[in-house]
Amino acid sequence: AKTVSRNQFQFYVASVDSEMRERKQMEKDLHQALLNNEFHIVFQPQIDYKNHTIIGAEVLLRWVHPTRGFIPPDIFIPIAEDNGSIVGIGNWVLDQACKQAAIWQKKGHCIKLAINLSAVQLRDTTIDKHIKDTLAKHHIEPQYLEVEITETGVMEDVSKAISTLNSIKDHGVSTAIDDFGTGYSSLSYLKKLPIDKVKIDKQFVHDLLIDEDDTSIVNAVIQLSKSLHLKVIAEGVETEEQEAYLVSRGCDMGQGYFYSRPVPADEFLTYLLAYDKK
Ligand code: C2E
Ligand code: CA
Ligand code: CA
Ligand code: CA
Repeated sequence: AKTVSRNQFQFYVASVDSEMRERKQMEKDLHQALLNNEFHIVFQPQIDYKNHTIIGAEVLLRWVHPTRGFIPPDIFIPIAEDNGSIVGIGNWVLDQACKQAAIWQKKGHCIKLAINLSAVQLRDTTIDKHIKDTLAKHHIEPQYLEVEITETGVMEDVSKAISTLNSIKDHGVSTAIDDFGTGYSSLSYLKKLPIDKVKIDKQFVHDLLIDEDDTSIVNAVIQLSKSLHLKVIAEGVETEEQEAYLVSRGCDMGQGYFYSRPVPADEFLTYLLAYDKK
C-alpha cells in the first residue's frame, strides 16, 4: 500500500509540475500572440424577439496557437487576466470591433457590437477615455457599442466599478451584466450597478424545459429585469422550443446556436443579409 501511495504522490507532483510548466509557457505565448497576429474575433447575432430582427452581435475572441491550435477563451482569458496581458488584448478586441463596425456601416449595416470587458480592464482608470477615443478613431457612434461585464468582475471594488461604468454610459455606450445568476449577490448588484441589460446565463437556458428549477430561475430573472426596467437577453438558446418559451415569458432578446454559432465577419454579413429577407 505504501508503494502505491508513494507512486500516486509522485504522479501527482509530476502532473502538477507539468501543469505549472504548461501554464508558464502559455503566459509567455500570450504576450507574443498579439504581436504574432494569432488572435481574431468572431461575431454571434443577437435576435430581438419583438420584431424578429438582428439587433446586434456579441464579439468573441479566438486564439489559434501556432503549434497547439485552437485554445478556448475559457482557458486563456483567466491566464491573460492574471498576467495582465488582457489589457492589451482587450484593447485590441475593442479596436478590431470598431474597425469592423465601420466597414459594415459603410455598406449600410449599422450593427451594435457587444464586447466583453474583463474585470482587470474595468479596474483601469483610463478605460472610459480609451473607449471614447477608439470609437472616435473609427467614427463609430457610441450607441453602436455595448460592454458586457460579469458580477464577479465588479465584486472587488463595487463603488469603483459603478463610477467607471457611469462614465462609460455617459459617453453613450450601453452596459450589460453577463452570466447573470451565476455569481454571488446578484440581486443587490442589479440595483446598484448602472446597467441597461441582463444576460441570463446559458447554464439556466440549457435545461430550461427539462429542469423545473431552471425554469423558475429564468422566469424570475425575466420578471425581475422587467420590474427594474432593464432589457433581458437569454444566451445559449439552442432550440425552437426554448425560444418559444422565452418569448412567451416576455424575454426581450435571444442569442445562441439556434440562430448562429459565433462566425467570422464575412459569414456574419451573409447571415445578416439572408435574415433580412426572411
Ligand atoms: P461569455 O461572454 O458568456 O460568452 C458566451 C459563450 O457561450 C461563448 O463561448 C459562446 O461561443 C458560447 N455560446 C453561444 N451560444 C451558445 C449556445 O447556444 N450553446 C452553448 N453551449 N454555448 C454557446 P466562448 O466564445 O468560448 O467564450 C467563452 C468565454 O470567454 C466568454 O463567455 C467570455 O467570458 C470569455 N471571452 C470571450 N471573448 C472575450 C473577450 O474578447 N474578452 C474577454 N474579457 N473575455 C472574452
Ligand atoms: Ca459575454
Ligand atoms: Ca455569458
Ligand atoms: Ca462565461
